[in-house]
Amino acid sequence: MNQTAIPFPAAASIGDSHGRCVNYLRISVTDRCNLRCMYCWNSEGMQFLQHADILTYEEILRLVDLAVDMGIRKIRLTGGEPFARKGLLHLLEQMLLRHPGLDLRLTTNATLLSGKVQALKDIGISWLNISLDTFNRQKFQHITGRDMLRNVTGAIDEALDLGMKIKLNAVALKGINDDELPVFINFARRNPVDVRFIEFMPMGHCNRWTQDNFWAAEDILAAARSHAVLTTLGPGERKSGPARLYGIEGGMGRLGFISPMSNHFCNSCNRLRITSDGKLRTCLFSDKEYGLRQILRHPGLSMQHVRRVLENAGKRKPLGYKLLQEMREHTIADKRMNAIGG
Ligand code: SAM
Repeated sequence: MNQTAIPFPAAASIGDSHGRCVNYLRISVTDRCNLRCMYCWNSEGMQFLQHADILTYEEILRLVDLAVDMGIRKIRLTGGEPFARKGLLHLLEQMLLRHPGLDLRLTTNATLLSGKVQALKDIGISWLNISLDTFNRQKFQHITGRDMLRNVTGAIDEALDLGMKIKLNAVALKGINDDELPVFINFARRNPVDVRFIEFMPMGHCNRWTQDNFWAAEDILAAARSHAVLTTLGPGERKSGPARLYGIEGGMGRLGFISPMSNHFCNSCNRLRITSDGKLRTCLFSDKEYGLRQILRHPGLSMQHVRRVLENAGKRKPLGYKLLQEMREHTIADKRMNAIGG
């Protein structure tokens, strides 16, 4: 008789006081990154965490075990740049060996991805989110501080050849990459990828956010319509997480718009974040953190204590748009994305 594997225990989800079901966790495995993106990097230099302050892979695995037991069904590893940390593939493999049905994904700048795609596939990773703000070499160098565009496009080609599913995320930067809208659209036309534009968020002090660079999703959508015929997708397809998706007539891929600033999606937010130094964050726009690392490392405390923190923090998960409304300065969260895990 065939037995259907039941990968997950029937556990209660981490509910919150706004009726949301929290079942998605993003874990930052490092705050370090090999790029120096203009919106992340502080020109006066950045203080990176000491290795001892970063969660070990063993600690991450314990957190993953607990999170899955508490109803988390999707985990995304992020950073900093996740591939900047040694042994990442081993961590991914361990996570899926322990939790075979887990929806495990990765967000990367793809500069270090080349040569690793087959290994990712073998482990069971089938989705990659790749961040790329420009297809122009000089502009890539201007935005990221590194001449590595070819590494990224080469890795994307490799991933597409191997059948990896890709979401290409571009931060929409008015005056910087808005002229490349047709290039991004053509890329989505020619390839089976979701190209998604993300509104620029005022994260972290010194991140050079200005209203001048802000390009609202509605305006990008309107501009996109002058370069392509966008088609409405079926009810089950037109939303993917926070992205609103459109088909491109005659094209293989889709276009997506993510509007954390102009059209918040707080009511359906289902995610928690754990920073590389083991702090739980319940909202991208809130600096409130719940320390997990000291509990994990305390000889007198157990995973039951971590569970309680997750439960309580889940209940206190705020509605981020209210924090945005209260925003007095341009910066809405103290930390830059490399520290939070974008
Ligand atoms: N290194 C990985 C990558 O590049 O995907 C993961 C970390 S990175 C911080 C995650 C994403 O956050 C990237 O797509 C980056 O462009 C985006 N990001 C960083 N700062 C941002 C901001 N102020 N507004 C919008 N997106 C931002």
